[in-house]
Amino acid sequence: MLNINRLQRPLLTRARMSMNEYPKGLKKRLTELEQNYAQLVKSIENEAAACSPHRSVSLVAVSKFHTSADILSLYNVGVRHFGENYVQELLEKSKELPLDIKWHFIGGLQSGKCKDLANNVSNLYSVETIDSLKKCKKLDTARQQLGYDKISVLMQVNTSGEEQKWGFSATQLDDLYETIEYLKSPQCKSLELSGLMTIGNFTESMSPSSENKDFTCLYNLKQHLDSKYDLKLKLSMGMSNDYLQAIRQGSDSVRVGSKIFGTRPPK
Ligand SMILES: *Cc1c(COP(=O)(O)O)cnc(C)c1O
Repeated sequence: MLNINRLQRPLLTRARMSMNEYPKGLKKRLTELEQNYAQLVKSIENEAAACSPHRSVSLVAVSKFHTSADILSLYNVGVRHFGENYVQELLEKSKELPLDIKWHFIGGLQSGKCKDLANNVSNLYSVETIDSLKKCKKLDTARQQLGYDKISVLMQVNTSGEEQKWGFSATQLDDLYETIEYLKSPQCKSLELSGLMTIGNFTESMSPSSENKDFTCLYNLKQHLDSKYDLKLKLSMGMSNDYLQAIRQGSDSVRVGSKIFGTRPPK
């Protein structure tokens, strides 16, 4: 994944020099996106450095509902990791955007859409929202037939226990165990187990308390699974409202949308 510390600075500088080539309206938007992105990277770097000198945190730019032109603007300043929530939207965007973009699927995934996703987005880098063994197998089987790169998968955990949320249970762990065992088995050919993902509870994320219980829960679960299966699971947690807190609580990758692109247009 993108290592902000090493990669971002030179790329952002290079973009600044070629800005004269942009038409006026686009130029204003590009400047805005570029500044938002650079500020965000800086604040991520600062928070990571405050935690520990060698800490590196990746950033996924969540582009759902925003235009391919916006994505391309950031692409042109070196950004490669983008996150999308809807299979149809991702299929359309991936068709018209450069093939070296690393797409992260971060939306609720329906079983019926696994095949579409695996087959039609050759540069799908990661699915962060695996919530059942069945979906894992569907993705794996569909992807195997095409010889594309492996998909890095994260298992989404419903850390807050809210009913409307997707994800594995954080208390009944059997499904999670079974899925990890499949992902580690030779039977699984085109997926690579990368980590755990959660969406922080909204109220929890808006309150200035010292600890977000969802992030604590995911971190503890990681420790448990790492030692049970000899893994080094990565944690994907933190969005526009709570990414700093997520970094303080051990996040390896934050997924940020509105802080880069502004408020989302209605779908
Ligand atoms: C939309 C979304 C994000 C980004 O949310 P912002 O609050 O705009 O930063 C991150 N993760 C997931 C799963 C999302 O659906």
